[in-house]
Amino acid sequence: FYNSSLTAHAVARMSIQSALHQALEREEFHLLYQPLVHARTGRIIAVEALIRWQHPERGLIPPMEFIPLAEELGLILRIGDWVIRTACADAMRWRQMNLPRIQMSVNLSNIQFRNKDLLKDISHVLEQTGLPADCLELEITESALMEDAQGALAQMSALKKYSVKMALDDFGTGYSSLQYLKELPLSKLKIDRAFVTDLCSDSKSDEAIVRAVVSLARTLGMQVTAEGVETLDQANALVALGCDSLQGYYFSKPVFADAIPELMNRTWVLGSSPQST
Ligand code: C2E
Ligand code: CA
Ligand code: CA
Repeated sequence: FYNSSLTAHAVARMSIQSALHQALEREEFHLLYQPLVHARTGRIIAVEALIRWQHPERGLIPPMEFIPLAEELGLILRIGDWVIRTACADAMRWRQMNLPRIQMSVNLSNIQFRNKDLLKDISHVLEQTGLPADCLELEITESALMEDAQGALAQMSALKKYSVKMALDDFGTGYSSLQYLKELPLSKLKIDRAFVTDLCSDSKSDEAIVRAVVSLARTLGMQVTAEGVETLDQANALVALGCDSLQGYYFSKPVFADAIPELMNRTWVLGSSPQST
């Protein structure tokens, strides 16, 4: 019994692997976009591109499942390139519709970040789509910095010279050395959802952490985005703590590109005192 279930697992994994090899050609990927809302104006200032895989039989597979597999199979550079290309093309389409100028944020796998050709590939996409470099922000996680700090610094400096921005994602969950943080040309820290969820409960520790991150970011000249904002009370607390922008289901779940223009017309009212429930 044990053996047969193991075999079934192995077969399922192999079939997912071979499907992933063909997913790009079969156009099974799409991007959703989630807004980042400015704390003071309540308007959308950026969107984050989030990949989805529509598997013909299994349905929607979340990125947490297939991105690690794509890394293992050596497919992540091609998939990552498709993400950047598609996101920049969509951003350019919104600009041509005379909508407010917003920034496009794209997640990078550590493998992509370490790729020697990253800057060349990105500059290619920007030239082809016409999107200005300073409209693009790349999100990396702390683990990308820890593996090779000198390499990371060189890569980020080259990108910054080219005007592409860099954000540190899921901040607070890894083991960032403050020494690295000081040296790296980052434009933004994204506070992980873990510190936002319990913000309005009795515990004051998450509040203290957010306050500390904001103060650190200010000192280092970086912006702060809070992730995973699900309620107005959380949003107001984060504005009061000094976050520059907010992202989460309270504002919008990730949506198809077509839904973004309408969201750009919206204004969220933020910054009033927490509401009693
Ligand atoms: P992430 O970069 O931290 O993205 C935020 C994740 O939190 C997204 O999950 C988003 O849908 C979810 N989220 C946003 N607001 C809320 C909220 O208010 N509450 C809760 N509970 N969740 C919220 P998603 O789209 O499943 O992506 C998961 C992760 O997969 C991302 O985490 C990112 O690390 C990775 N990923 C997504 N797209 C790409 C991509 O194109 N390339 C690479 N390399 N990684 C990607
Ligand atoms: Ca991200
Ligand atoms: Ca994140």
